[in-house]
Amino acid sequence: MSRQTPTAIPALVRNHDARPRTGGLLAHVHPGLREEFSALVDGIWKDLASRFAAPLKTRESASRRTVTVIGFVRYAVRRGDGRLTLEQKVLNGSGRRVWRRAPYAFSADLPFKPSTGLFEELLGEWSARIAGLARSASDVPALTAGLVRSVRRASLRTVDWKRLRHAVRDALALDPEVLDLARRSRVNAHAREVTDGHYNHVVKHLAAYRRIKADNPNLLWLHALAQVERVSLPAKGEALARLKAKILKDFSLPPAAWRHLANGRRRDFRVVLDWLGPGALPHGRWLELREWLRLLVALERHGPVPLPVQRLFLHDPYRVAADRQSVLFRGASLPIATLRAVIAEAEAQLASGTLRAFAEDDLPDVLAWLTDIRPALDERQQKAGWAYLLRRARDWKHDLALRDRAETYSWESLVSGHVADGLTVHPIANVWALHREALGMRNCTNDFLADCMAGTVRLFALRDASGRQVGTVGLTREGRQWKVLDVRGFANAAPAPSMQRLAGSLASRYTTLWLTLHPLLAQESGTPATIPVRDREPIASEVEADPEEGPDNDEACGDDADGWDDEDEGMLRHECPICGDERLDCEHLVAAIDYFNGGIYAGAMDKRQAAFLDRLWLQVRQAADAGQQYSGLGKPVDDAITALRKTGTDIAAAGAVREESEWELINLLYETLESLPGVDTRYWEFDGGAPGTSTCGRDFWSRDVEATLELLATELGIPGADE
Ligand SMILES: [Zn+2]
Repeated sequence: MSRQTPTAIPALVRNHDARPRTGGLLAHVHPGLREEFSALVDGIWKDLASRFAAPLKTRESASRRTVTVIGFVRYAVRRGDGRLTLEQKVLNGSGRRVWRRAPYAFSADLPFKPSTGLFEELLGEWSARIAGLARSASDVPALTAGLVRSVRRASLRTVDWKRLRHAVRDALALDPEVLDLARRSRVNAHAREVTDGHYNHVVKHLAAYRRIKADNPNLLWLHALAQVERVSLPAKGEALARLKAKILKDFSLPPAAWRHLANGRRRDFRVVLDWLGPGALPHGRWLELREWLRLLVALERHGPVPLPVQRLFLHDPYRVAADRQSVLFRGASLPIATLRAVIAEAEAQLASGTLRAFAEDDLPDVLAWLTDIRPALDERQQKAGWAYLLRRARDWKHDLALRDRAETYSWESLVSGHVADGLTVHPIANVWALHREALGMRNCTNDFLADCMAGTVRLFALRDASGRQVGTVGLTREGRQWKVLDVRGFANAAPAPSMQRLAGSLASRYTTLWLTLHPLLAQESGTPATIPVRDREPIASEVEADPEEGPDNDEACGDDADGWDDEDEGMLRHECPICGDERLDCEHLVAAIDYFNGGIYAGAMDKRQAAFLDRLWLQVRQAADAGQQYSGLGKPVDDAITALRKTGTDIAAAGAVREESEWELINLLYETLESLPGVDTRYWEFDGGAPGTSTCGRDFWSRDVEATLELLATELGIPGADE
């Protein structure tokens, strides 16, 4: 015999006016059946409203007590063992609605959630009639789903669902001791509620749970986890003793490791309980527990890792190496000391309330760096702690930003592969590679960015046969010649002889290739590149015969004797090699220089030299502003750049630097002019026979003066200066 008690819940219905809104669903309803649809919705809602008036029916029988909710779900508690199950009304084969065991998990302590699924079930008994009103077969799913949502919203507005839930719980009258043990031992950390499965599990093993609660309530969860994971425990002994023996033996842990469990609480192992494996399933947490315990032992932790810090480890495999000196963390093998530094910093950030920012900014940087670079940290670096890690990571991140810039900040290297003495040459040809080089080799190559961009410096990484980088070679251009700027080993160590030899051959090879690509152009087609100098024997006998009598400036002027065409002592002759003019006013004179009396005094350059010098100086200033060190124009100009960089914003000091370098720039101008094809020069000396009356100089001639000046400007890298 059983009796059924309908239960009204006071104040359950808080709104009597709510009703499903179905206007939006009419598009899915057959146009001729809209009134019927409206009537059906009215009927459904009226039916539900009557169920809400007395939503619970409790039935006691000899075998069980059941609680039926809104007429379509039924909780059953068995009298004998207290097991909890759920049943729902389904259509059977002959079209009758009958109660069947529901196969899915549900929460035992806070049952009956107003989910969409619940209302799908609830409307199940009207589903055939709903389908019959649809505009077409393809409208059925949308019409049904829309009606479910609409009825659910109306129900939530009508019923105080929290009140209903509490009434269900009271009517179920579950065993409070079992509920308490189930709550403490639950291992489904993702849901706060106790599931029916876990409730029934505790019911079944109530004696063991009671015992564990008496011995060490901290370990209730551990027993549950072992059960859920189907761990086979030793057959004999107390539950906890069996767990301890199993864990220490299977996990190869020292006995002290048990203390982490025995003294810890459930929340201290959330990283294990929250773990989800493949398929987002929690299976395999027993192995996660093993790894976490090994990690705690390797870290030599005394206390638990705080819950928010544990989350940094969540869903990441961390595997302690057999020697316990390193851990595979986020794909990178980290020394234990480094991981200790990471955790210590996270705990400090947690204490100061900045863990979130730390976890979102600094930590990802460090972890990304560790994963991407896999740095081999030496003992000193391991002990250097978080600040060191963060600094390295930020360098790396900066590096990444540079990588984006690498495409813009790149240059051409004429040598792409060069092997000698077992060393391979790899050009460093963009800002990213340059920065990597400086970081990797601990040198200052990134200072050369501006020079590399300007084409005055080229850098190369040297690798040995095994691919290991052993050094860096820098070349710099001086005029049309590439020279070895520097050869360095790791961290600026002195280079091996083989590296120096290689640098020398690299410079010569680079010069050859560069000259091929940067030929000096002849001024006009069909014009000989050089003007034949009239075949005249230089007369140097006077000077050589009596050096003591010679002018004091002998050394300064007499560095070469070609073009020595002044036959008569004290007489100046400036004969144009092209037209024979001797008055320095023919169209072929580029420049006439008197080295002791003010320099330029005739020729096209007389009026143009100032403009050339201005442009050269502008180039020096721009190079200094860009952070360049090498101008490609030789040491005097490079020295001017260095001096100018030191003056900073001091305009007066910058003016002084220009004044000091003026003569160097003039020399550069005429040395370059002399090297151009199509330019013929004549050196001359004059000895007036008295102190202060001796001098020397050089005349520069060209068949096409304008073309020569254009070439000069190009060669100096100052196009436009000739105009
Ligand atoms: Zn001439």
